[in-house]
Amino acid sequence: MTYLTSEDLRISDTLPLLAPAALAAESPLDKAGADFVARSRHAVEDIFLGRDDRLLTVVGPCSIHDPAVALDYANHLREAAARHAADLCVVMRVHVEKPRTIVGWKGLINDPGLDGSFQINHGLRLARKLMVDLAQLRVPVATEFLDTMLGQYYSALVSWGLIGARRVESQTHRALASGLSMPVGFKNRTDGDVRVAVDALLSARHAHWFASLTRDGSPAMLGTSGNDRCQLVLRGGTHGPNYASASVQAVVELLQTAGLPPRLVVDCSHGNSGRDPERQPAVAADLAAQIAAGQRAISGVMLESNLVGGAQDYRARPLAYGRSITDPCLAWDKTLPVLAQLAAAIQKRRLRVGNPPRRAANVADFPAPAMAASSHEEPHRLVPTGSWAAFSHRE
Ligand code: PEP
Ligand code: MN
Repeated sequence: MTYLTSEDLRISDTLPLLAPAALAAESPLDKAGADFVARSRHAVEDIFLGRDDRLLTVVGPCSIHDPAVALDYANHLREAAARHAADLCVVMRVHVEKPRTIVGWKGLINDPGLDGSFQINHGLRLARKLMVDLAQLRVPVATEFLDTMLGQYYSALVSWGLIGARRVESQTHRALASGLSMPVGFKNRTDGDVRVAVDALLSARHAHWFASLTRDGSPAMLGTSGNDRCQLVLRGGTHGPNYASASVQAVVELLQTAGLPPRLVVDCSHGNSGRDPERQPAVAADLAAQIAAGQRAISGVMLESNLVGGAQDYRARPLAYGRSITDPCLAWDKTLPVLAQLAAAIQKRRLRVGNPPRRAANVADFPAPAMAASSHEEPHRLVPTGSWAAFSHRE
């Protein structure tokens, strides 16, 4: 008799993965950098707690494929952010894991060579090093967590996390968010369903367990303490956009009925722009008008922007410098007036509704970049040994 095997029938290869602690030793976050990330997280939280009336403005490329371009973009953004620091809390989109509707390039970590060679250890190295460099530049990072293990390599560098439209219903991702050290946005589903995102916010407030890695790279179940600093992100959907004032008001009521704070983020791209980057300024203008008219619920705005507008096929060679290889982006020179318009709207809202109490000590306003090189010290408090799950220190 012939015995059939039952195991690993569709596993074609197994590659070793470096441990999170080994990568952290290669690209350490020094104490000043960790302090900057912690303060940036507090600044974001203060906006959603109503202690800071600035607008969280999450702006940057749909995805990162070239760290040099990302740093070039960050230097431009840093200047604009400093100019608008009184009105906008600017955080850069640094998306290094990309979800695909069917197939395609899955991001810097998954395939840094853009050629299907899947050098994941190299991708992790590039992603973490870029985020450490951004912390040195004092540019806060927002990113989408796609994988429940890979974030362990870089979550200490992230000031605002995201769970995307395709994963908002995933129990595993809700559990992941419940253990992340930063505030986390949940997008509405791709068909526009917002209720599932409200469910996600409620779920993430609870303690959960999820499978991941220890800092030493061992498989582990991580127990979480729950994250009550999560937000809803309106990104439109297949049935149309959801940024207009009637949609915003309906969602505010949904949040209030669920006992959640009436504050949300609106993504000007994706379903809200019909993936036409040239429509993002019109969406932002509508949001600016709502803000100027006194709408307090709009606490954050997202823009997909790159040095050059549009997008290119990731298989094109040579690739054009500064242009997206995933969703089409708004060009940098067209992004600047949008930032100015949003800042002006915040000033108008402030005149209309008055100032909230500010917690000045936690405001991350792009202070001067660190002068000295990193001190090569281990992170001092953001990632406790054994788990990325513990909350950061709160005042
Ligand atoms: C993105 O941010 O590029 C993205 C894929 O977003 P969403 O989950 O809203 O589709
Ligand atoms: Mn995108």
